[in-house]
Amino acid sequence: MILCDMTQRFIQSTENSIQSANSQSANSQSANSYDANCRHLSMSMCMPQMTAEQIEAQIAQIKQDCQAQGLRFTALREQVYRLILLAAHPIGAYELLDLLQSASEKVVAPPTVYRSLEFLLRHGLVHQLNSSKAFFACSQPTDRHVAAFLVCRCCGEVQEFSHPSIQTMLTEVEQSTNFATQSSIIELSGICQRCQ
Ligand SMILES: [Zn+2]
Ligand SMILES: [Zn+2]
Repeated sequence: MILCDMTQRFIQSTENSIQSANSQSANSQSANSYDANCRHLSMSMCMPQMTAEQIEAQIAQIKQDCQAQGLRFTALREQVYRLILLAAHPIGAYELLDLLQSASEKVVAPPTVYRSLEFLLRHGLVHQLNSSKAFFACSQPTDRHVAAFLVCRCCGEVQEFSHPSIQTMLTEVEQSTNFATQSSIIELSGICQRCQ
């Protein structure tokens, strides 16, 4: 079965990449090691460890990028994005609404918040988990990519893993099944290294 083979190869490739990313000797001659400098080899968290300065620098960069592309990064979009960056875990729409409401004297209209979330999703600034519907900040927002999300069932932390092999696998599946993909979210549920 072609899909089984591809899934196997993806899992194998993911395991190799994780080992490579964790390895102190990422530049070793091993046939399975990837280029440690490759921008696509990413094993970053959903940014819970960002400092306030890093968050503001990130927002300034996004503002600049949006301006260059003629996109409106409104005050509400910025506020929603900041809250997602600040959250130590993937955050749901209701939790976001509560936080926005508690910071505002005016009534916050849910549709405006949903539209902001749609904007952030559409432009790759945040991702949304299929399982919990929670949002978290993309670790490479300026670099279009297909990622897999490793969700820990213990602490809820999400690791974003992106690698060209994921895109290659999806393209192969699309071509062999003549399927026009409109969206894809790859979630792996399990126990993170810290919780093991
Ligand atoms: Zn991402
Ligand atoms: Zn964990």
